[in-house]
Amino acid sequence: MAEVKSRIRTLHTMLTDKEISCKELTETYLRSIAEVNKNLNAYVNVTEDVALTTAEKIDKQIASGENLPLLAGIPMTLKDNISTNGIETTCCSKILQGYKPIYNATVWNILQNNGAVLLGKTNMDEFAMGSSCETSCFGGAKNPHNLGYVAGGSSGGVASAVGGNIAVYGLGSDTGGSIRQPASFCGIVGLKPTYGSVSRYGLIAYASGFDQIGPITTTVEDTAIVYDTISEYDIMDSTSQGNKGVKTLDTLRNDIKGMKIGIAKEYLEGIREDVKEAILNACKVYESLGAEIVYFDLPALKYSLPVYYILACAEASSNLGRYDGIRYGYKTPSYRDVNDMICKTRSEGFGSEVKRRIMLGTYVLSAGYYDAYYKKAQNLRGTIVREFKNAFEKVDVILAPTVPMTAFETGKAVSDPIETYLTDICTVPINIAGLPAVSVPCGFDGKGMPIGMQLIGKNFDEAKILNVAWQYENVTHDTMFRSAEMGVKS
Ligand code: GLN
Repeated sequence: MAEVKSRIRTLHTMLTDKEISCKELTETYLRSIAEVNKNLNAYVNVTEDVALTTAEKIDKQIASGENLPLLAGIPMTLKDNISTNGIETTCCSKILQGYKPIYNATVWNILQNNGAVLLGKTNMDEFAMGSSCETSCFGGAKNPHNLGYVAGGSSGGVASAVGGNIAVYGLGSDTGGSIRQPASFCGIVGLKPTYGSVSRYGLIAYASGFDQIGPITTTVEDTAIVYDTISEYDIMDSTSQGNKGVKTLDTLRNDIKGMKIGIAKEYLEGIREDVKEAILNACKVYESLGAEIVYFDLPALKYSLPVYYILACAEASSNLGRYDGIRYGYKTPSYRDVNDMICKTRSEGFGSEVKRRIMLGTYVLSAGYYDAYYKKAQNLRGTIVREFKNAFEKVDVILAPTVPMTAFETGKAVSDPIETYLTDICTVPINIAGLPAVSVPCGFDGKGMPIGMQLIGKNFDEAKILNVAWQYENVTHDTMFRSAEMGVKS
């Protein structure tokens, strides 16, 4: 059986063999965006000039025979909360419309140094708060497998663009599932790295103690290539640790015989039957590859949602205090005094989901309620961290569903936002514990919508989870990956 083809490697070879020029490749993607984006609503800002200027530079480097990194000349996208110097960065919020950062996020500096071709900035839930991309002030991104369904969120635009092949890969951010959930909904791969391994400098904060930037790609190898590139130590981020010298690509194809793959029983409770079946089928695949399935308990899982929503909202209420109409973006046109100006700017500039979370966060931090909510949630966070730690004494990686269901129909999350919080149950524990997890496609539901599973590792064990993910993808790719039949034909 032929190996899964890395899209990045294939294009890299085509570029360096001069089968196609970087300008032609970029123009092909830009044409496809012009055609498909009106349906997908994946891009909120197409940076054609930036893309073509880089493409010309890369073509010159190829002509002069320079040795180029794998990502050079590859057309990609960034979620619109990753700061790009001189390029509008809005977090898909009215309050940041027109805001052009005066510096680059570290990840974007790294990618630029690697010759990445930025096609544009992609859609997201406002300030990354949501699971459907529909809290975006630009309207939600659609699922490339069926336009009647959401792409997921909050990095819905990146997943829609990569799944619909109007970008080869993209960077999203994940605070409670925002890389993995949309990747799962769109039938592609998404990695939430260990907290601290990828610099958050220049990522507009939602909840700084949880936020991580990571890749969304079509294959595990592409994820490994992008992760290895962006996971550098960064002096500009006080929580940065880099990847500790580990290159995930080196061990991607390792044998997994004898490896222990853990399943927490609690992770299989209350999830949809077809999703459960897909996970159990994945266990069989792993057994056939020589791995051992080990069941264990994770009783604290039930506290994850309240812990996440208390702590993330508390951090958000503090982080979003800076939008006061003075320093960035939107300012109300008429006001009496400075208090009135700030109040009106925030009331008019933020959408209702963001306001709900700022209020909730302010409440749990307020003098009379701090002990009852915030402190309790912090203590429980410790319990969740410990339970994962204990589990990793018995198993190498943990296998779990990414989402308890598949993509929802458009409009459903907006009509019942609280109900959609429940769908974050499988992803938020990982952010609470700071662990790395990758979502890979593992099946389809009766309507043809993709199902995803996540492989969770110990801190800084990205190499192991990507190795285990690659082995699964390698034997199932032909059945588990379906091209969304739009965008650039590969
Ligand atoms: N869906 C989760 C939320 O609404 C996670 C969002 C995220 O990871 N940015 O908070």
